[in-house]
Amino acid sequence: MLGTGTSQGVPVIGCTCEVCRSVDYRDKRLRVSVHLQVGEKSIVIDSGPDFRQQVLRERIKTLDALVFTHEHKDHTAGLDDIRAYNFSQHKDMPVYGEERVLEQLKREYSYIFADYKYPGIPRVELYPITVEPFEVEGVPFIPIRVMHYKLPVLGFRIGDFTYITDANYISEEEKEKIRGSKVIVLNALRHEHHISHFSLKEAVAVLEDLQPEQAYLTHISHLMGLHREVELQLPDFIRLGYDGLQIEV
Ligand SMILES: [Zn+2]
Ligand SMILES: [Zn+2]
Repeated sequence: MLGTGTSQGVPVIGCTCEVCRSVDYRDKRLRVSVHLQVGEKSIVIDSGPDFRQQVLRERIKTLDALVFTHEHKDHTAGLDDIRAYNFSQHKDMPVYGEERVLEQLKREYSYIFADYKYPGIPRVELYPITVEPFEVEGVPFIPIRVMHYKLPVLGFRIGDFTYITDANYISEEEKEKIRGSKVIVLNALRHEHHISHFSLKEAVAVLEDLQPEQAYLTHISHLMGLHREVELQLPDFIRLGYDGLQIEV
């Protein structure tokens, strides 16, 4: 897990709450992202504003593709930094996302897509995806349609691993695609209800229904509380994710 924090990250700038002041490394949460190593293939889901710091920390030397769940800034703001891989790998970066997401990237990073390209800018190759299964560099991805309030977002099932980062609703039909996953990562923002994210209680209920062997929560706010205290309140098969956590599936 490259990052497990909500859009502002934890600590929050200017906040002096006990979570933001905590010295526990698990209470330091960069913006959400996950790195997948599938055989030889190295894939990152979402490149938020902390992307550079995250891939440096985890010493991710090669990157074969970038896959986006949706277009919100906490998931896309690090796109410029993929150029380091363009330089070291001497190739364009394959980028996967829904049409709407790719269009937003074209607006927000117009220089990357300009006809005249300034030397040294990121070089990407866009691959539009839909709710139909697709492959990333030969790795099969099953998209899971979830709702982030009114915004349709994608989660992904890769083998026995399912990753869902920004959701407050998953239909029964989509849940069927998740069932049987050994490991599920699911978003849980805080204890209190939220308009576009599962609360802790809601996420636990979804996971109790889906029954993976192991589940990890992500996209966590400082309002969730101290990592070590929240962990004590969770069923055995559910843990809070933390930055740097490695999961083998
Ligand atoms: Zn988000
Ligand atoms: Zn705080």
